Amino acid sequence: MRPFTYERPNDSRGAVVAIGRAGTGAKFISGGTNLLDLMKLEIERPTHLVDISRLPLNAIESLPSGELRIGAQVSNSALAADGIVRSRYPVLAQALVAGASGQLRNKASVGGNLLQRTRCPYFYETSSRCNKREPGSGCDAIGGFNRGHAILGASDACIATNPSDMAVALAVLDARVVLLDHADVVREVPVDDFFVLPGSAPHIETVIRPAEMITAVVLPPQPAGRQLYRKVRDRASYEFALVSVAAILETRGGTIRSARVAFGGVAPKPWRAFEVERALIGQPASMATFQTAAGVAVANAVGRGMNDFKIELAKRTLVRTLANLMAE
Ligand code: SF4
Repeated sequence: MRPFTYERPNDSRGAVVAIGRAGTGAKFISGGTNLLDLMKLEIERPTHLVDISRLPLNAIESLPSGELRIGAQVSNSALAADGIVRSRYPVLAQALVAGASGQLRNKASVGGNLLQRTRCPYFYETSSRCNKREPGSGCDAIGGFNRGHAILGASDACIATNPSDMAVALAVLDARVVLLDHADVVREVPVDDFFVLPGSAPHIETVIRPAEMITAVVLPPQPAGRQLYRKVRDRASYEFALVSVAAILETRGGTIRSARVAFGGVAPKPWRAFEVERALIGQPASMATFQTAAGVAVANAVGRGMNDFKIELAKRTLVRTLANLMAE
């Protein structure tokens, strides 16, 4: 690990001013559950760390609008255990509990979870070619060990997946990310727009600007319908998704009135499947409808060899998730 300087401001304004003053070599650190590993491997080489873990951003507040504001420093454990989250947004609580280990969830913050980097093994192996780590160097995952890689939204420059479970649930809930910059400008970005696809620049993963900090995530009022997060992985805990599905389904008289679906583990960002939702709404809540929707979900999927199985797995996971929602 390379030497770096460190400071711990007391408030959000102080944090964004500090990061702006320190310049391009500076980074925020919160729980450090991903950044410290990257620093030890010298994939991340910050010259200055601004510690935001003790900023007063750890509240979960119900707003008069019916929305829920979640401070960026709320831990993943605290969010999963919150009574309002468990009752109004169970898909989020389920996704959080499915992620990482209890120890990591205690340290990991909501803001940090959104900014965690891919777990592509070539990204972490510094002798490999990786366009995300070293732009323009190539991608050893293409034609390599790509069992865990993307089947949707990838490019010829990068086929890595986003590793977050929480972000998949936030996508299906239409959450917004609140950002603050050093000029005190606040902006809100829908989660679906917060992440960007790799295209020819896979090192750019979000729309966050230099010196901007995530201060909160806002959930719209509880959506109608039942919610479920299903995660398929190689082992039962402490493992990233091969495929996950977050779904919200509202039915009346056997007909689907509204539907929301997002996938994890299959794309470089949480994959909100709007075309699947359109295929579900207004249709009978039947296995035939779910299977048709599953076909729509993977219509543009591209396998890269070892991850071809994910195409069928994504279909089956979606059908099973929707069927479980109907059985509840
Ligand atoms: Fe790097 Fe992306 Fe290729 Fe993995 S898939 S080696 S992260 S460029």
